[in-house]
Amino acid sequence: MKTNTNVLILGGGPAGIQAARYIKNNSPETSVTVVRPEPHSMIYCALPYAIEGLFPLSKTFKSDELLTEFGAELIRDRVRKVDFDDREVELEDGSQIGYEKLLIVTGAVPIRPPLPGIDLENVYTVKSAADVRKIMHRLSGNTDEEIENVSGIKDDLVTVVIGSGAIGIEQATAFRNLGAEVHLVEMRNHVLPNLVDRDMSDVLQKELEDMGINLHLGVSVKELLGDKEAESVVLSDGSHLDLLPGRDLVIAALGMRADVDFLDHDAIKINRDGIVIDNRMRTSVPNVWAAGDCAAGWSIIDGEELSGKLATNAVPMGKVAGKDILGHSAHYPGFINGAATVVGKWRVAGTGFTESFAAHRGLDVYSATDKSTTRFPMMPDAGNVKIKLVVDSKTGRVVGGQIVGSEAVAERIDVITLAIQQGMTAQQLSSLSYSSQPWQTFFPAKNAIVEAATVADSMLESKTAAVG
Ligand SMILES: Cc1cc2nc3c(=O)[nH]c(=O)nc-3n(C[C@H](O)[C@H](O)[C@H](O)COP(=O)(O)OP(=O)(O)OC[C@H]3O[C@@H](n4cnc5c(N)ncnc54)[C@H](O)[C@@H]3O)c2cc1C
Repeated sequence: MKTNTNVLILGGGPAGIQAARYIKNNSPETSVTVVRPEPHSMIYCALPYAIEGLFPLSKTFKSDELLTEFGAELIRDRVRKVDFDDREVELEDGSQIGYEKLLIVTGAVPIRPPLPGIDLENVYTVKSAADVRKIMHRLSGNTDEEIENVSGIKDDLVTVVIGSGAIGIEQATAFRNLGAEVHLVEMRNHVLPNLVDRDMSDVLQKELEDMGINLHLGVSVKELLGDKEAESVVLSDGSHLDLLPGRDLVIAALGMRADVDFLDHDAIKINRDGIVIDNRMRTSVPNVWAAGDCAAGWSIIDGEELSGKLATNAVPMGKVAGKDILGHSAHYPGFINGAATVVGKWRVAGTGFTESFAAHRGLDVYSATDKSTTRFPMMPDAGNVKIKLVVDSKTGRVVGGQIVGSEAVAERIDVITLAIQQGMTAQQLSSLSYSSQPWQTFFPAKNAIVEAATVADSMLESKTAAVG
């Protein structure tokens, strides 16, 4: 059976929802069909907290009405083939859909690197509701297919989490809060290496250790030993983390790769990070757009390839795709990758390039830091915050920022993200106009972003004077 639609959207995550809503809101007469295999879209960011038991898993499900209330048609299936010449797709149920315009927003799947033993049965990854349910089954021994919560875990349960990015840390924390013995393995020499530099991570590592999480830093996993299940995780320093089959588990939190295996890679340009797009989300194939995690993007800072698999990138990319599909003017400037997470009592956020990543990209940068109280110092529960700015030595342009504090870091990192987006120098950021109130903000004379920018600017002046 074959049906036809004006705009066909493959995937119903944040990018697909944004595009569908824009198109239907602005052109109700355009028929929009969304194909998505799962019974519901999901709020993936909340999954670790469902595992921890803060709310039932179903609270992370998004209503289909986000798509259907504006008149998009939703088909619950998976596309197995796209014929770009004939402008039609084939679904797993064998039916076909013809399209005039196609948007591919199929997201990403967790990476399983080619390590011996990585496919053993007790090695899990986290993306879908099904993944979370498998982990809940394993933790609790409860095999209810519709399991929503873990009420208690097996005695003496051990988990090994590989990768200390935000997803790895959030999983490790969830397991620890449930009472498991937790080992967190990170090949770089500090935690959250893509979000913050080494000098910002010391308090985070201490916090993880105080929580009872065993850190294995600067070592990689060489192999996992076992027949059906991993019984030992072998690290590059020769040490072994032993696991009990039937009880313990391993989580691979090693990043995501674009979900593009169903596409003919000779028919559409795809690089190692996903479908190649331009700044209007157009692919190498006429009348085909791609956005979100399945697309390969670039950095707003140096224009070079950069991965940016975040919901906060997928949403604006989906909007740009929706606009361009309707012929409305829009362009996407590139990734900045502002992101935040929680490490015990600390809130952590980063944006743009870290100092070490900037060096890796060949940028000559320096950094300036400032420490402050999160509220006016005399206020109850005023905590501490440390801010680091990364600045281009040649131009004075702000290229990165990191914040570790006891509260309200996400809103503050967004200010630095805006500075990067606008190409501001440290000097320009040092004249930021801000508000002040004892409960909510920095002390009027001690806005830590402004202070760090002021220090950064004076450092640049003295560097320039020294050269002159
Ligand atoms: C545990 C976890 C925590 C996260 N935390 C954060 C966070 O705190 N902040 C943040 O910004 N981002 C976070 N992310 C990343 C964020 O969830 C993704 O960047 C975002 O969901 C990407 O949106 P998308 O629309 O591109 O893809 P997705 O949301 O992945 O949606 C893709 C959709 O396409 C469907 N699909 C795939 N293949 C096909 C096919 N062949 N046919 C039809 N449909 C198909 C999928 O099933 C899915 O419905 C997290 C991700 C995970 C896994």
